[in-house]
Amino acid sequence: MEEKDTNKPEQEDQYEKICYICRRTESKAGPMINMPGGMCLCHDCMQKSFDSVLNSGLDFSKIQNMPYMNMNLNDFSNLNIPKPEIPQKQKIKKKSAQEKPALNIKDIPAPHKIKASLDQYVIGQEQAKKVISVAVYNHYKRIFARENGQESDDVQIEKSNILMIGPTGSGKTYLVKTLARLLDVPLAIADATALTEAGYIGDDIESVVSKLLAAADNDVERAERGIIFIDEIDKIAKKKDVSTRDVSGESVQQELLKLLEGSLVEVPVGSNQKNALSPMATVNTDQILFICGGAFPDLEQIIKERLNKASSIGFGAELRDKYDNDPDILSHVTNSDLRKFGMIPEFLGRLPIVVTLRKLTEPMLVEILKKPKNAILKQYIKLLELDEVKLVFEDDALEWIAGEALKRDTGARALRAILEEFMLDIMYEVPKDPGIGTVVITRGYLEKNGGPRIEMRQ
Ligand code: ADP
Repeated sequence: MEEKDTNKPEQEDQYEKICYICRRTESKAGPMINMPGGMCLCHDCMQKSFDSVLNSGLDFSKIQNMPYMNMNLNDFSNLNIPKPEIPQKQKIKKKSAQEKPALNIKDIPAPHKIKASLDQYVIGQEQAKKVISVAVYNHYKRIFARENGQESDDVQIEKSNILMIGPTGSGKTYLVKTLARLLDVPLAIADATALTEAGYIGDDIESVVSKLLAAADNDVERAERGIIFIDEIDKIAKKKDVSTRDVSGESVQQELLKLLEGSLVEVPVGSNQKNALSPMATVNTDQILFICGGAFPDLEQIIKERLNKASSIGFGAELRDKYDNDPDILSHVTNSDLRKFGMIPEFLGRLPIVVTLRKLTEPMLVEILKKPKNAILKQYIKLLELDEVKLVFEDDALEWIAGEALKRDTGARALRAILEEFMLDIMYEVPKDPGIGTVVITRGYLEKNGGPRIEMRQ
């Protein structure tokens, strides 16, 4: 029988480290921090110890020979115990002013150029694209003026944060994503529903800045010129008739104020939670462009009521229902409508630019299928092209897809799902037969009246 060599070092490694406090093993609690005397602590317990020490207000500098679990650490000084590797809390230093790449006014694309680039991707929403192009241009000009000392004391250019209102799937997020990519600035997308007042369960407000820092690869300078998109902003409207504290509604709006207008925020680097182990960075939000977006579902009703009330006075009385079927009703929105919806005036004051997006119509959905630079149809055509097969969509087939998407009432989001259902079979079957040269998607096929039209190679 083979004898075991008990002196082999790997034998020792067979034992897992156990946290001295919670007794969990390394496989359960994660990597351990080695302490003097062969003790180990898991990150959670280490954190809890830090927290309780910080909360107790104990001053360690006043304690001599700190008793650590009845042991004097000085006793270990002549033993050869490896020092525990506890990451030190550190500040990420900003680069000095000379290192900072100056923003050149010539590098900021003019509004018509920004819009022309957006046009290649975003269909329709002309007014929204125009307003955003100008707002973004002004935003970066403001940064330029500040950095180059061209802002006088009497003329202060205000921040042009944007409030974007539009139905689900009308392209709000897509517009912001496209914009950030075109401008080559970091973008963080956060969901307002996840945010709560500091101290309550949920992400605290500053987590949005942490996300941006992560998107900028922890480069503070880059993050400070980035864009933060806060989606579902309508969900933090003031709750009506609540007797308890509104920790995810009005309080979140209140806490967002200082971020929106510009403040110094200390955020952890490489983690979205503040703890003693992660290094911190200070980010100035003054030059960050904030875009808040939401569907504001009952807002249309509020606007209609106001407009109908106004038009029912005097000679216009017969036009009472004039606005009931207006597809662009949202564009009539005013600050008072938004306040009625539940947004607080201070919050609205920090989002001076209001952009509204229209509900997408059937012809727009057809365009979205085929026009944008990375249109869904173009992607499928490219995929089959790699099999040397030509894929053709008949026009009335596209209209059918757009019509189906409209029924689902989720805007352009439904398009891909609908198309995927049909394209699955095609992409499965076509490679089976190398003789197939062209596949034509007809309306009949989509309505399940037969298969697609197949043309064989000559
Ligand atoms: P929301 O308005 O709810 O934020 P999104 O921007 O997420 O909607 O839209 C979902 C998807 O629909 C996008 O990823 C994009 O592919 C497509 N889409 C929506 N609107 C447009 C549009 N106007 N032009 C082109 N594509 C669009």
